[in-house]
Amino acid sequence: MTDQYQTFAKSPIGKFVIKNLGLPAPINLDRFESATPVVKGAVLFGAAPASTLSGSIAQVLANIHANSYTGNNAELQQAAAKTGLNLGAFNQGDKESKFKAVIFDASGIQNSEQLNELYQFFNPIARQIQTSGRVVIVGITPETAKTVKQAIAQRALEGFVKSVGKEFKKGIAAQLVYVDEGAEANLESTVRFALSPRSAYVSGQVIRVSKADVADVDWAKPLAGKTAVVTGASRGIGEAIAHVLARDGAHVICLDVPQQQADLERVAGEIGGSVLAIDITANDAGEKIKAAAAAQSGLDIIVHNAGITRDKTLANMKPELWDLVININLSAIERVNDYLLENAGFNKNGRIVCVSSISGIAGNLGQTNYAASKAGVIGLVKFTAPILKNGVTINAVAPGFIETQMTAAIPFAIREAGRRMNSMSQGGLPVDVAETIALFASSASTGLNGNVVRVCGQSLLGA
Ligand code: NAD
Repeated sequence: MTDQYQTFAKSPIGKFVIKNLGLPAPINLDRFESATPVVKGAVLFGAAPASTLSGSIAQVLANIHANSYTGNNAELQQAAAKTGLNLGAFNQGDKESKFKAVIFDASGIQNSEQLNELYQFFNPIARQIQTSGRVVIVGITPETAKTVKQAIAQRALEGFVKSVGKEFKKGIAAQLVYVDEGAEANLESTVRFALSPRSAYVSGQVIRVSKADVADVDWAKPLAGKTAVVTGASRGIGEAIAHVLARDGAHVICLDVPQQQADLERVAGEIGGSVLAIDITANDAGEKIKAAAAAQSGLDIIVHNAGITRDKTLANMKPELWDLVININLSAIERVNDYLLENAGFNKNGRIVCVSSISGIAGNLGQTNYAASKAGVIGLVKFTAPILKNGVTINAVAPGFIETQMTAAIPFAIREAGRRMNSMSQGGLPVDVAETIALFASSASTGLNGNVVRVCGQSLLGA
């Protein structure tokens, strides 16, 4: 649906009113377009002394042909030269240069005093990041740090990144990537995502990369040859997920309830996919999903997107509304996963991606059933991730306010609050959720396991 406030904010009179009343000024966020560079503009690359991840970051910048610059940092120049990355010189006193993205390797920060490296690097250039720009900080997973002091300093990065996300405005998104020991080779898919317009509505997030096999990937079609099942694919976020996974090369089996058959066929027709009209709560849902995927090349990806709300305050909630929501949003996912995992339902490097909600993180009035189900999804991801084998991973996205039929039905005042109470001052689009799911689904993301990434424009709810 259209955001009338955003349209107004762009008109000459709107700009005047907004400036004078100090109201939020949402901008049109850049979004992914095929056949365009990962970063459309200059990238500034910095690092704390003795950082260990600069070579791997430089390799990613070289691979994406980023127009990259650095200040006076001989160590970084050397690391970059080894990867063939040509780093232009940037004079820190230069106030004219603008950057579309800034990436900083903080892995060398050993103690809290050295956090000053962040200040030294970011303070002079804080006003030189363009609209829809990106700030990416890469650090060491605190739990794997060598000393307590290092763990504390690395943990501190989170507060810095989240504050940058809130402070920089203009659609600038900031992320923190924590890398486990030995996982340098696994960070490419995450760094590409965090630098690109695919992360338009993702900000203030921490993504953890662990050590795993590295796959050879065609970055233009990272899902080529893969078979994906998307539940709830006939409309809304599920429809966008089906489109994005197909765009990235997957054959998508679009699943929804039989009542949605006509819309399912429309979506599957648009993307050259196939249709599976079943209810995910049926006892044989896992078996049917496995059989449908076997008719293609076997199951590589399942996206558990189907979900419902049945809002009532707890005192007014009928037992059947409680049961229905828990069953569709959580128990059915558990049953399907259990069936697939116990019956060799996944190909090697299979991907399970779940859709939670910020309601499951923050709780919400009238949503005890829904929030419990979505918090359960986070638990499902956290406790399943360590027991998976054969390169299979499980991750979740937690959307905030996304412009869909579901949110269009919310009363005006609550809807406006949901839209504006985030760092982007606007609602997200279904495609924003889909792009984050595509990151987890990618063959290059075996190092992402057990993550929950919010797609909420850094909503204040549950932050
Ligand atoms: P939607 O209602 O537009 O679509 C949900 C789809 O799931 C529908 O097509 C529906 O038929 C299908 N579905 C429901 N029960 C099913 C079942 N038993 N078996 C098979 N399919 C079933 O909702 P949406 O806004 O696109 O939301 C998609 C997911 O994102 C949901 O899990 C929702 O909880 C979550 N989410 C949405 C928002 C938002 O702002 N829209 C925010 C947070 C989380």
